[in-house]
Order: sequence, then structure tokens, then C-alpha cells
Amino acid sequence: MTLQKFSKPFEHLETPDCLICNSTEKKPFYQVSNRFNQKESFDLVKCPNCNFVYLSPRPTADAIGVYYEVEEYQPHQADARNAADVLYQRVRIWNNRYKRKTIEKYKKNGNILDYGCGTGEFLLEMNVSGWKTYGYEPLTKAANIARNHGLNILKSLQNYQGGADIITLWHVLEHIHDARGIIKTLQQIMAPEAYLIIAVPNYQSFDAKIFKQNWVAFDAPRHLYHFTPETMTLFLESMNFQIVSYKTLYFDPWYNSLLSAKIEAKNKKFKLLIQSLSKSLIAATIANLQSFFIKKRSSSLIYIAQSIK
Ligand SMILES: [Zn+2]
Repeated sequence: MTLQKFSKPFEHLETPDCLICNSTEKKPFYQVSNRFNQKESFDLVKCPNCNFVYLSPRPTADAIGVYYEVEEYQPHQADARNAADVLYQRVRIWNNRYKRKTIEKYKKNGNILDYGCGTGEFLLEMNVSGWKTYGYEPLTKAANIARNHGLNILKSLQNYQGGADIITLWHVLEHIHDARGIIKTLQQIMAPEAYLIIAVPNYQSFDAKIFKQNWVAFDAPRHLYHFTPETMTLFLESMNFQIVSYKTLYFDPWYNSLLSAKIEAKNKKFKLLIQSLSKSLIAATIANLQSFFIKKRSSSLIYIAQSIK
């Protein structure tokens, strides 16, 4: 990995090797603008050896924090400020219930650790049906909100006293610089027969193909990696996991299409709001229908895996 100076002081870019096969070779894939600062753009590259798509160069782990300090960035927002926020929060409640029901098809109860738990809403949903819940969240503000909900939020994974029956990473893995190191650490604290559950966006979905470099889930430079079912299989198998099932997150094509249309509008692709809105609704409808029949084309996929060590 090589380091180079960033254009701004005290910030750095690095050029990572392929996360999956360690190849240093890269082919250009897309140039993606930062959706909160259109003047700034980043390169996505594709590994010619294993087809993995990733951000390179990318801000280093020490430098990336500034890209999360954006008011419009929603994931850990506690208060609803407008109708869209209210809708987002309603959907989040529905989504958390769907995630719990998905998990309970595999295990009815036990210990669950949510890595990157944010403000803890998913863990609160798991508490409802008697799970023993633990969370880990590196962002202090979000972690404190989760603690105020009465949740057990670990300061470090070393504080976790073993035996997780379920470990979840909901739209988290694509943000982690040391993704391989974290999965290996989590593997060590899993109980026998435990499940690792990872949800990430899928750029092979219909909505991604329609919006191309304006697809919101490319989200440069916050999203470092772009998995497909094929590359996630390679990644997990390289650490002795096997994928036992795939599930769809049904709201994600709507959310992704609406926000992607907003990015297109910023890039002045359409003159009228109604044109971009219509495009997003059509894209989301087709993406959802397609994912119903072909799970591996879902806008976001949930991978359910078990360690085979
Ligand atoms: Zn590769």
C-alpha cells in the first residue's frame, strides 16, 4: 500500500491492494463524485484478477472522519426534521422488524452482537423478543445515544466475553478499512454454529445499472468496497465462511433510487424534478420486482454465513 499527499492539509490518500486477492493491478471502473460536494470526485477500480470493485485511491482511516461530518448524512440522525425524515424513520422501524424475523428463522434467541450498531434501534427491536444484545459503535455520539437507550455498547471487542450466536453488520462492512481484520476478529468470538449476517449494497442491481456513477450506494469516499454475490463469496470463503442464504432488503431500491435521482438532478441531468422523480420510481419498481425473482440482483443483499473452521 502506498501513501500520497491529499490536496487538503493533514489529510492523506492511500492506494490499497485488492481486499480479496491482494492483486495490485487495477482497471478503471467509474469516477464518482462525493454526493455532498460535487466538485470532489473519486475513482472506483476493478481488480482484473477477481473482479472486485473498490475505491482507490481512498482517504486513510485517520483522514476519512471529515467525510462523515455532513449534516445531510442520515444513518445516525436521531430527530425527524421533515416529511422525508419521518418516512425514513417509519421505514427503519419496519426494516428492523424484518431483520429480526429474518434472523429468527435461523435462531430463536441467544446472544447477538451488532457491529456498527449506530444509535441502537435494531438492538432495541431484538430486545423485544428476549435476545441478549451487545453493540459496538466507533462514532462516540451515536454510541452514547445507544447507551442512553439502556443498551450494552462495548468500548472494544476485547470487552466481549465470547459466544455470540449471531453477529450482524448492517451496511457497515463497506465502510471499514480493515474489513478482513474485523471479520477475523468477529470470527473468534462466534459461538459454534453461529451465524454472521452481512448486508451491503449490490451494484449488479437494476437501479445501480440505471443510475450508473450517480447511484447513491457508490457513496464515495464513504463506501470503500462494492461487493457482488460472487465477490462476497470469494471474500468470505477466503476466511473459512460459507454463505448459507441470501435475503433481500425490500426498501433499499426505493431509498437508493430516490437519492440517486437527487444526485442526477444536482448534476443537471434532467431539467424538471418530475422527470427525475418518475425515473426513480420506475427504477425502484423494476428493481424490486427483479429482486423478487432473482435475489442476487437485489439493490442490497443480506448474506447469511457460517464459519466452517
Ligand atoms: Zn482481486
